[in-house]
Amino acid sequence: MPPIRHTAIRRMLAGVKSFRARYYERDPDSMRQLVEEGQKPDVLFIGCSDSRVDPALLTLAEPGELFVIRNVANMVPPYEPDERRHGTSAAIEYAVRVLKVSHIVILGHAHCGGVRGLIRVKAGEKIDGDFIAPWVTITGEACDQFIDAAVAGVSDPAEQAARRKAVLERMMESPFSVERAAVKVSVDNLLTFPCIKELVRLGRLNLHGWWFDLDTGDLWTLDHDRGVFVPEN
Ligand SMILES: [Zn+2]
Repeated sequence: MPPIRHTAIRRMLAGVKSFRARYYERDPDSMRQLVEEGQKPDVLFIGCSDSRVDPALLTLAEPGELFVIRNVANMVPPYEPDERRHGTSAAIEYAVRVLKVSHIVILGHAHCGGVRGLIRVKAGEKIDGDFIAPWVTITGEACDQFIDAAVAGVSDPAEQAARRKAVLERMMESPFSVERAAVKVSVDNLLTFPCIKELVRLGRLNLHGWWFDLDTGDLWTLDHDRGVFVPEN
């Protein structure tokens, strides 16, 4: 095999060796148990693919603790049982029906490129590529609610267009509200899955909306009763 010249890959390989030393050599029983008994994670995390917001790193989780789905902008599509390939929904189904997790956490974050893409789509911009634009509009409602509020009661089309443009510009400058609203839409979309709705009703499954502030390291959590995000102390 040729020598590995890529620094990033060398670092990753060294990381795997450290992982092996830590978990297989110093604490072999825990890994053997995970292999022999299988995984029994209690929590499903649905996070963004963003390299800065890794659920396992962020929560200091151990192997076997988290079942993780990561996609562009930590979005959950609504329940759409058809013949298309639903990667996120398949993983949710496995976590809920087979692993029987007790919690699902949607982990949103500040400076999310996927949510920025959503705002750009809503502003009528063309997004390069085939898959990002249709994907991010899963939580289009997160933008629409602010646009609808801005144009409510305005009948003049020119004034409507001006207000729409202004609110989209504000969202682009400060997308935090949209990022949090998108988490809330995904939590709502989880409830469109009949098995999730039923387990939540029975009190056997709990849904959580989180938003991580990359600037400060603070975590904000969704208060379901009030429908707002509050800082976690
Ligand atoms: Zn993101």
